[in-house]
Amino acid sequence: MTRIFSGIKPTGHLTLGNYLGAVRRWAEVDQYRADALFSVVDLHALTVEHDPARVRRLSRQAVTLLLAAGLDPERCTLFVQSHVDEHARLSYLLECTATDGELRRMIQYKEKSAAARAAGQSVRVSLLTYPALMAADILAYETDEVPVGDDQTQHVELTRDLAVRFNQRYGHTFTVPRATPPKVGARVMDLQDPTGKMGKSHENGAGIVYLLDEPDVVRRKVMRAVTDSGRDVAYDREGRPGVANLLDVLAACGGGEPAELAGAYTSYGALKKDVAEAVVEVLRPLRERHASLVAEPGYVDAVLREGAERARAVARPVVDRAYRAVGLLPPG
Ligand code: ATP
Ligand code: MG
Repeated sequence: MTRIFSGIKPTGHLTLGNYLGAVRRWAEVDQYRADALFSVVDLHALTVEHDPARVRRLSRQAVTLLLAAGLDPERCTLFVQSHVDEHARLSYLLECTATDGELRRMIQYKEKSAAARAAGQSVRVSLLTYPALMAADILAYETDEVPVGDDQTQHVELTRDLAVRFNQRYGHTFTVPRATPPKVGARVMDLQDPTGKMGKSHENGAGIVYLLDEPDVVRRKVMRAVTDSGRDVAYDREGRPGVANLLDVLAACGGGEPAELAGAYTSYGALKKDVAEAVVEVLRPLRERHASLVAEPGYVDAVLREGAERARAVARPVVDRAYRAVGLLPPG
């Protein structure tokens, strides 16, 4: 059976980008067709300046939102990364497999290290080694497919390279995975800066739709989305990124092809109105289920306990095998 792994960082409130690019497919498709593991990857949240209480709160909120989005613990394994030691154990071996040049080439490292420096913060070593930990997340589960948004495909490519290199050096140990981005919604752009992707850790929330935003807040953000000075509605990602993003979101939420949907509109106002309503409708059930799950903290705890146990049982033998393969003496 196909094995799927994917994760989400507790670095901010989950966004429409996270949902359309990743989470929706996990809930609607992946958990039904594969042996799927999904993780709130909290260790990755420590690669940038963080507030301990906030990370703890956001981790719990992310788990609750994933359940609200429809992940069913009977059908998939849902767990918190730091509850399973194998991730950190394997990450070290992959740091010993990757080169510093390859890590420095990662776009996410370049962007996030530049942002930290611009904010007068130092850059943590773990921001550079992040892809080794992400590769460990994936390889520890003998993963075949990694459903992620466009922005993560470079990290999955590196994971493939590391798996192949490790296997060549030390004998076959890891399954070589591949990224599977969605057809629509793979890169939702920021509504205020449609040349940059919507990201949950970004400072300015005006261009970001959060999954828990009230309907009126969603409407306001969409109606204020930056477009351009043109009048007619056309789908042109390069030339008119703001309008193209709205058409992408409409297609991802309501169906259809972005370029064809464009033909149905003669004004930006009408398009924005429809986008706002489509997003509100997609998020409505999620917000409602989230509210009822918050009232059941014991249930969420039980899901995480069982999820960690199941994940450990899969990862343990794989990581033990990797430890033996590189030449580390097995304990007595
Ligand atoms: P951060 O700003 O902290 O990096 P993020 O919003 O990028 O947060 P991640 O935890 O890095 O979220 O990624 C979780 C998943 O969501 C990944 O599969 C990623 O590809 C996907 N994703 C993130 N942002 C977008 C987006 N704007 N459009 C589509 N998919 C996205
Ligand atoms: Mg990200």
